[in-house]
Amino acid sequence: MALTFDVTRRQDVVSDADRAAVLADPGFGNHFTDHMVTVTWTKGDGWHDAKVTPYGPISIDPSAAVLHYAQEIFEGMKAYRHADGSVWTFRPQQNAARFARSATRMALPVMQEADFIDALRALVTMDEAWVPPAGGGETSLYLRPFMFASEPFLGVRPANEVTFCVIASPAGAYFSGGVKPVSLWISTDFARAGDGGTGAAKCGGNYASSLAGQLEGAEHGCDQAVFLDSSSHTYIEELGGMNLFIVYKDGRLVTPELTGSILEGVTRDSILELSKDLGLQPEERRIPIQEWKDGAASGEIAEVFACGTAAVVTPVGELKWDGGSCDHRREGHDDKVALQIRSSLLDIQYGRVEDSRGWLT
Ligand code: PMP
Repeated sequence: MALTFDVTRRQDVVSDADRAAVLADPGFGNHFTDHMVTVTWTKGDGWHDAKVTPYGPISIDPSAAVLHYAQEIFEGMKAYRHADGSVWTFRPQQNAARFARSATRMALPVMQEADFIDALRALVTMDEAWVPPAGGGETSLYLRPFMFASEPFLGVRPANEVTFCVIASPAGAYFSGGVKPVSLWISTDFARAGDGGTGAAKCGGNYASSLAGQLEGAEHGCDQAVFLDSSSHTYIEELGGMNLFIVYKDGRLVTPELTGSILEGVTRDSILELSKDLGLQPEERRIPIQEWKDGAASGEIAEVFACGTAAVVTPVGELKWDGGSCDHRREGHDDKVALQIRSSLLDIQYGRVEDSRGWLT
């Protein structure tokens, strides 16, 4: 049976003037809308007590399993305002499916696609005024569904009580001063995920374990870390929060295949689909990191870019490692393919072209 959301409106909603001031320069992840969604799951009863309530702190027992054993998952997606004022999400069914896969991996209950999308709809409908206006550049309302083991119990087993929430945060343009390439550090001492581990799930632990590699990269002057497979340290996997693509001069568009330790990005999947329209030949396979170094030296690599919901497509510049560096960019380099894919995706998301694939909800 479909969930019905019990609504309690916030009395002291943020004033129109204060909200407009936030929306003029929201940044990322700093401000939250007036309401939130919560749904409870208990073993035996399933999902119940679906609510939209004023946004605010959650009371949690100190023995709640999530605080000890990290039984937790989340999703990240955006709501976009079109020129006619309507509000749309991009392929939320994909996020619902990934959330269900993450739940299964972390021994959490699965939420049905329809309930997941209804929860998003309940919050976006309530807080629609927080979706930035159209025409303000690449602004959106970032949606963060998450689920955690809220049962107060210290035994190690799947929790019998779980809480699902959705919160929302207005997001500004990722590149406010124009698209700028990021530099990457090859993390060899730290892996993000391993064989049989949780790399393909969107669980908090993967992000905690990526931070040491990120910090090491920052110490070497790099913007982000690129993680390799944990067993042979040979093959490219992904960044801490984005998938990677390499564009060859001959039109091949190559991305690491999904080995179980890589997160299956919705943007990655959409790019593989769109690339055929752009005359590129998409390929999913294992990519040795040496192939990147060699291709940069020989000039065979035209572009490298990272992709994800937050930044859509981000060109990659220099690659650094312990003892060396390489850069595929030469005099007169442009990130033509990356920028073309970026605008194709944005045009669909912001309703500037026909949504021929039915990707918008
Ligand atoms: N890899 C990781 C580890 C991520 O956190 C993300 C962001 N969700 C991605 C890839 C890109 O996924 P998506 O395109 O669905 O945002």
